Amino acid sequence: MERHCTHCGEPLDEAAPAHRHYCTDACRQAAYRTRIAKNPVPASGSGGTALWVMALGVGLLMLARR
Ligand SMILES: [Zn+2]
Repeated sequence: MERHCTHCGEPLDEAAPAHRHYCTDACRQAAYRTRIAKNPVPASGSGGTALWVMALGVGLLMLARR
């Protein structure tokens, strides 16, 4: 299946890893900036960390119950 850059639509390199969505780092960064501009996430860093800590806590709880 042929894949295309999510940002500019150029065909991606056949050898590009499956998780790749952009033809170049420039496209990846441009798309990232566009996404940030479209929906700004307040304090994304700390929010992400809190979620991660919560997931970890739940995981530990499940383990402790066994
Ligand atoms: Zn591109």
